[in-house]
Amino acid sequence: MAARVIDGKAVAAAVRERVKVDVAAYEQETGRVPTLATVIVGDDPASEIYVRNKHKGCEEAGMRSVHHGLAAATSEDELLRLVGALGEDDDVDGILVQLPVPAHIDPDAVVAAIDPRKDVDGLTPQSAGLLAHGTPGLVPCTPAGVMELLAHEGVEPEGAEAVVVGRSKLVGVPVARLLLAANATVTVCHSRTRDLAATCARADILVAAVGVPKLLGADAVKPGAIVIDVGMNRTEDGLSGDVDFAAVAEVAAAITPVPGGVGPMTIAMLLVNTLQAARARRLAGSA
Ligand code: NAP
Repeated sequence: MAARVIDGKAVAAAVRERVKVDVAAYEQETGRVPTLATVIVGDDPASEIYVRNKHKGCEEAGMRSVHHGLAAATSEDELLRLVGALGEDDDVDGILVQLPVPAHIDPDAVVAAIDPRKDVDGLTPQSAGLLAHGTPGLVPCTPAGVMELLAHEGVEPEGAEAVVVGRSKLVGVPVARLLLAANATVTVCHSRTRDLAATCARADILVAAVGVPKLLGADAVKPGAIVIDVGMNRTEDGLSGDVDFAAVAEVAAAITPVPGGVGPMTIAMLLVNTLQAARARRLAGSA
């Protein structure tokens, strides 16, 4: 294997340690601790695990977290009222509604109801608009984690050919915007892209955020490329990324493993965003 394996766990641990120090300084300065409010509607076991880990992350960083678990039958109106109340609650700095929500609730309406100042998932139209405008506020956590990994590896996006596979609001599009803001030349691929492998093989930086196990093989990777695999796919053989790790590791210069690559970065960046939201509200005089 030629490629360096990028240790997302270690980078995430370093980010979390940094946040912990900064939270202690914030508390000393303001007499309060940043607070994250989470909401789950229903009893999806995966959501329960994700949210539990987010609370654990807050606790370890010295932040407070409060949870609202709502019954699956909760109406959209009730959820919107709760999200509105959290927006008005001065003790709450960050609001996270864990998706998916049950089918009778429109997720876009719920996300749009989040106070943009507390949008620690970076998913509201306001946050997306700021990112598109080139003046990012709160950036979605996984894309922010991808950029943190690149920075940690000393990868300079400026002037590089970057190819992002996937154009979701959650990952693909914000990653592409962040790479563009960092002066990479960015191509975004999706399910209608012709000759995906040839397009990917142009990339100095290749980011896969698709949801198809091992979609990208060695033929899709330029020798010496940096490969960031966001994919998390449950298969019979366990968790798999969107990249064929064993084959691509023979050609790439560096690659993230799955698990242990991008995954651990998401919670770390949520903590960064929660502290950032608390500081911004403080500066604006509302916390
Ligand atoms: P998504 O909303 O389903 O978007 C998938 C994207 O991939 C779409 O843009 C789709 O194209 C494109 N696509 C699908 N099949 C393709 C193909 N055969 N060739 C090229 N493009 C194809 O998924 P997502 O939310 O962005 O998540 C992507 C992956 O990242 C998933 O495995 C997810 O579990 C993982 N993920 C991981 C983390 C983490 O913390 N590590 C966080 C979020 C997501 P169209 O737009 O044309 O349909």
